[in-house]
Amino acid sequence: MTRALFRWIAGLIAAACLSSAASAQADEPARGVLLRAAEAMGGLERLQALDNFVFTGFGQRIYYQGGGNITGDRKAPPKWQSVVDAQRTFDLKGERAVYQERWAQDFPFAGFFGLNFARIAVLQTGSALLDHPLPALLEALDPETRLGAVSIEDGIVVVEFMAEGATSPAWLGIDPRTHLPVFSRWVSPSVNLGDLTTTAWFTGYAPVSGVQLPMGLMHELDWRGQVSLMFQVDSYRLDVPAEQLPAFPAPQPVGGGPAEARVTKIGDGVWDIRVGTAGGPVIEFADRLVMFEAYGGEAQTLARIDAANALVPGKKVEAVIVSHHHFDHTGGLRAAVSRGLEVISHRGNEGIIREMIERPAIHYPDALARSPHPLVFTPVDDSLVLEDATRRLEIYRVVEHSHMPDAVFAYLPSERLMMEGDLGDEAWQLHWWGSAYAANIRHYGIEPERNVAVHGSGPLSIAETLANTRRQIEAAVEYCRTTEQGGRYAFGCPVQYDADGPLPLAPR
Ligand SMILES: [Zn+2]
Repeated sequence: MTRALFRWIAGLIAAACLSSAASAQADEPARGVLLRAAEAMGGLERLQALDNFVFTGFGQRIYYQGGGNITGDRKAPPKWQSVVDAQRTFDLKGERAVYQERWAQDFPFAGFFGLNFARIAVLQTGSALLDHPLPALLEALDPETRLGAVSIEDGIVVVEFMAEGATSPAWLGIDPRTHLPVFSRWVSPSVNLGDLTTTAWFTGYAPVSGVQLPMGLMHELDWRGQVSLMFQVDSYRLDVPAEQLPAFPAPQPVGGGPAEARVTKIGDGVWDIRVGTAGGPVIEFADRLVMFEAYGGEAQTLARIDAANALVPGKKVEAVIVSHHHFDHTGGLRAAVSRGLEVISHRGNEGIIREMIERPAIHYPDALARSPHPLVFTPVDDSLVLEDATRRLEIYRVVEHSHMPDAVFAYLPSERLMMEGDLGDEAWQLHWWGSAYAANIRHYGIEPERNVAVHGSGPLSIAETLANTRRQIEAAVEYCRTTEQGGRYAFGCPVQYDADGPLPLAPR
């Protein structure tokens, strides 16, 4: 700690002791730090008089919080989304904001919606407003806010606060030299990661109409220190006239009804159980059921488990095969483990799955927090066979797949039924790894008649599955042709595969 910082903190504590003796104000040190920050940003009166402010800019956002990379390794290359033409409009008096942007994936993606830089607009309230120092500081100084302890973290003065109506604490970090906010921090629930703490870092303060505002915004998660947003502000405007402001969208309905599981019998002791357009088979063994994939989230996965457990008297789902680690495919994993399910997946996924299961959910308790179970993980290397007197299920490592090198699929040889996640989807518009079906069938010498994709409507014939893939590959080739014609070189272009394998190279 520098001497100046030490003196400042000592002064604050002395002031707090004096004032608490005088006024019993327990939050005096915190308020002092925040008032000094308001002064540094342009003066409390000036800040509180503002009706609105708008910033624009651009940047990159992490895909699936870092759970969408090719593998679950800490050093796997991250996948980013481009954020362009972004505008954030804060209605300070209304304690709300509208966030507008155009976005696209910076990697090959199966739907046009993830590639076309479509404009989106989201209404933000509550803790979603804490990632900028101006609304965060005003919220911390709001008379309804309860101020907590002041602490020091790496030389930064940190004030804890609890906004009115909030269900978890938030923090503001103040630079002891400039007195400007360095970071804000809050907790939100994550289906994959339990309580997820985000720190928003503020850099590059510049005076704008008498108010100090940061040009650099960066978000960092308390999971792996993952940077989740890198954003550069390119303009600020204060008190914009009403006729220049965007419309505020209506609040999104929260939750949306209970998840309903649809059960379809697809063989003797084999059912497809899905919620909406995602799910997978449940397979009966002599003394238990095994489920494929814990997709989507807690409600979705518990609905599938409950539906499965009602199928055969005396038999319950006791294991789940996880195709790969991507956060949509593991959104129900914590819920599955809360029911004591054994998790079977490729060995490379054990680390990230263990991280997901072991993270706490204290502020936002989920099924696993209410019913804690240790992770029982069974790794698959090249293959694993689950077999008893009644059933044989083969689990294979997926080969030749750039989207998910650490993946498995499963196969019922008697039923000639294949089940997989992300080898394909009838609803995909584009296919960038279209040779994987054929490559895996060939590699393992299996002869499936039907395929059940996690993303889809249920079982399709292998002929239909391959026809969908061919159509989607052709669409990707056409997408690459038109984007290149327009002078844009898209991620994944030119397409590298047809339905049988890598394409011959043209010399260049
Ligand atoms: Zn998927």
